[in-house]
Amino acid sequence: MRGNISIIGAGTAGLIAARELGRSGIYAKVYDQKKVLGYPVRASGIVSIRGLASIGVDYGKAVTNTLYGARIHAGKSVMRVKSSAPVAHVLERQMLNELCREQAAEAGADISLNERITPERISEIKGEDGIMIGADGAVSTVAKHFRMGPLADHVITYKAEFEMDVKDTTSVDLFFDREYRGLFGWLCPNSDDRLEAGIGIMPGRMNAKQAFDRFVRNDDIAGMVDGARMTNGQASIIPMRLRRRIVDEKNKVLLVGDAAGQVKPTTGGGIVFGGNGAIIAARAIQGHLERGRSLMEYDASYKKRFSADTRMHSMINKLYTRSGTKGMDFGIRIMNAIGMASLLGRYGDMDSPTKTMMNVFSGKQRVTE
Ligand SMILES: Cc1cc2nc3c(=O)[nH]c(=O)nc-3n(C[C@H](O)[C@H](O)[C@H](O)COP(=O)(O)OP(=O)(O)OC[C@H]3O[C@@H](n4cnc5c(N)ncnc54)[C@H](O)[C@@H]3O)c2cc1C
Repeated sequence: MRGNISIIGAGTAGLIAARELGRSGIYAKVYDQKKVLGYPVRASGIVSIRGLASIGVDYGKAVTNTLYGARIHAGKSVMRVKSSAPVAHVLERQMLNELCREQAAEAGADISLNERITPERISEIKGEDGIMIGADGAVSTVAKHFRMGPLADHVITYKAEFEMDVKDTTSVDLFFDREYRGLFGWLCPNSDDRLEAGIGIMPGRMNAKQAFDRFVRNDDIAGMVDGARMTNGQASIIPMRLRRRIVDEKNKVLLVGDAAGQVKPTTGGGIVFGGNGAIIAARAIQGHLERGRSLMEYDASYKKRFSADTRMHSMINKLYTRSGTKGMDFGIRIMNAIGMASLLGRYGDMDSPTKTMMNVFSGKQRVTE
């Protein structure tokens, strides 16, 4: 194999980048500070079926549940969006990481665990002419070392699982409230005996665990999870906007996944955007090594593919963040009155608002499994 790429971070984005490079005959070594890949699990895993197909992960063994829709709550109003076909899978994140690792290893990448990369180590590993991918999450050591700008926006999160009999496993519940400005609270049926509750808020007013405690004390939710054992509580952060620079051409450094801020700002979901970012980055590296193309092609190709959707996701996020509970309650009543739930159920694409609009106007129903 030719080339020698170092990848910092063996999350989904780093491993997908290693797999893509390996399949093009380019050698990559992936470093991660964790002793056990993907553990502890700080994040949940609702991923659209169409999005999963786009990142090429053989995810079957990681599926714990399948979703057909969502209930969106604000104040006293609820909008029920339901599709006749499956929309998304709930994935066990540690298993998803393991499946990505298998693919990367099969493609020829080496994965070194239990190795925290410090700024000093970055220079040693990379050497003068080497190419490095920073796939080291939102608090990226690589981005900081190469001064690629701060994360412009982020939310803080807390999530935990309740062991209980889950009555409806087909829909996720999203709760909008001015208390949880920035994102929302969620209840996700991970399986028929595990319900995940989580919250994402703007940093500042309270910490994520305090917001979570308030969220699960809310009358509707407290009644539901009363007496259930709570496990796997974890705090984390989600970037909400693309980092100012995702390529440092001079130093030959590319950021992918959360390190680059590749998420959709309506939900904070980053597996599909970050996975595609990793694929696009690997192609740009291949073009650079084989034809001397600029690594900046990565930046241009990512933005070409995702800018319009990211902008629309950001607009929707701003709309619900600024509306407050009353505004959202009113918005939901209007959307119910005009039949928006049924339109979204039939034509909605949870990753792509632009595709949703095109589907509505062309009358083309969403394609699923
Ligand atoms: C509560 C929560 C819920 C979420 N729910 C969803 C969801 O439902 N659907 C969805 O699509 N997305 C969801 N996300 C977002 C999703 O988890 C991330 O976008 C995705 O995990 C990003 O993958 P990544 O590979 O870029 O980074 P990460 O998964 O963060 O991986 C980064 C890796 O880098 C390693 N690392 C960091 N620093 C160093 C260092 N200095 N040296 C060595 N290794 C290092 C870490 O150990 C880690 O393994 C959620 C996130 C949170 C926090």
